[in-house]
Amino acid sequence: MENLETTVTTNKKEFRCGYVAIIGEPNVGKSTLMNALIGQKISIVTPKPQTTRHKVLGIFTNEDCQIVFLDTPGLLKPKYRLHEAMMNSARAAINDADVVLMMIDAVRAKSSSAKEHELEFQFLQGINKSAYLLINKIDAVEKQELLPVIAEYTAQFPFKEVFPISALNNQGTSELLASIAKELPVHPPFYPTDSISEQSERFFVSEIIREKIFEKYREEIPYSTTVDIVQFKEEDGKKDEIHAEIYVERDTQKGILIGK
Ligand code: GDP
Ligand code: MG
Repeated sequence: MENLETTVTTNKKEFRCGYVAIIGEPNVGKSTLMNALIGQKISIVTPKPQTTRHKVLGIFTNEDCQIVFLDTPGLLKPKYRLHEAMMNSARAAINDADVVLMMIDAVRAKSSSAKEHELEFQFLQGINKSAYLLINKIDAVEKQELLPVIAEYTAQFPFKEVFPISALNNQGTSELLASIAKELPVHPPFYPTDSISEQSERFFVSEIIREKIFEKYREEIPYSTTVDIVQFKEEDGKKDEIHAEIYVERDTQKGILIGK
């Protein structure tokens, strides 16, 4: 009996679990990637006791590993106090991550320079972590157009891996997951294995509002709005009543959102 147990233990693959921070501009396809990886729209779940101080984009779990994806709220040259706060929050997420993914848009990368991402590269230089380059939306470019992009970006930073993917078509994503899993420490799962995201309903509501603002006003209002849910009232038989405060960077943006 004792022998049998030993065999069982040694044959069992060790479970791995860790954090992955994603650096990527708005619209690069982070949400689409999460949906592809997790296989369904992020569902609203009740808050779980284990919370990180980071914004969790999604949690991928299978029998071998759990990958917790952390959002980084954009790396911008801090011009405003809001930017500074965002930078600090990005830095904290990256510090806690086992792997950092820099996600770029293949279509945009064709016609822009990697130099635009100077700040991200500086960030990556300063940390000693595995960083992957994720080139998303490869379905929208020709294969040969990718080569110069890969060359340009890998010249800026020695990425450990480069993954051309299409989040929309779920292409290249399983290879990505397998590679990430290998980088994670042996550790039991942080989150209940059935949870998709540990964030509260409030968080999802604020994200939905933020997303709508971005979709409607992407020209006028940068992604850097902050939404606070100040009241969330649920009553049986009634519609939920939600009060939200929206913070923008400049006074002029207030008018755009609320009108005269
Ligand atoms: P996020 O702001 O980084 O979360 O970006 P989203 O996931 O919301 O995606 C922004 C837009 O890019 C959406 O219109 C997506 O449908 C589109 N998109 C995302 N991934 C892909 C992809 O692999 N290929 C193409 N063609 N479009 C994509
Ligand atoms: Mg998104």
